[in-house]
Amino acid sequence: MDRFSIIVGDITCSDAEAIVNAANTTLLGGSGVDGAIHRAAGPELLAECRTLGGCETGQAKLTAGYRLQAKYVLHTPGPIWRGGGHGEAALLASCYRSCLTLSAERGIRTVDFPSISTGVYRYPLPQAATVALKAIMDFLAEHDLPERVRMVCHTEDAAQVYRQTWNFWYAESKTDRM
Ligand code: ADP
Repeated sequence: MDRFSIIVGDITCSDAEAIVNAANTTLLGGSGVDGAIHRAAGPELLAECRTLGGCETGQAKLTAGYRLQAKYVLHTPGPIWRGGGHGEAALLASCYRSCLTLSAERGIRTVDFPSISTGVYRYPLPQAATVALKAIMDFLAEHDLPERVRMVCHTEDAAQVYRQTWNFWYAESKTDRM
């Protein structure tokens, strides 16, 4: 799948047309990647976010990127992990799908995602990776846009989990199993 890759980096330095922010439902900034994106984008981002009236978990809203290299930011509040029996997987999948749907509607060609919900929201990384990769791969199989999607992991350890998960579910040649 040459339209998708897993990389290690700081998403605030991304050269993608749109980056995704693992936001909270207020959209008014927070810790982790949310704080980093707001710091890098400048106060204009918060000013635009204030006009949006928040966002429900699993949905997404688009703003400009201001001082970021990225032209757009897709803000999506991920689910807080509460043991797994509270619809967390469906909500997390919805975050990825909502961002990709908005991107395709806007004609956005390149999108970078952080690992949504796996920081302060404590979603276990292997489970989050399975949900994230399925949502992304299913979407790409059915849509021509975005042309390129990357998972930008903040640490090599996180990237390792995403790579292992990708290899487990997607790298196998179908003919090998026939
Ligand atoms: P959430 O509240 O959705 O859990 P966090 O920001 O706490 O969001 O964490 C989400 C993921 O983003 C974590 O895996 C964290 O390591 C990662 N992260 C934090 N800062 C950055 C950054 N600058 N670039 C990419 N990923 C980041």
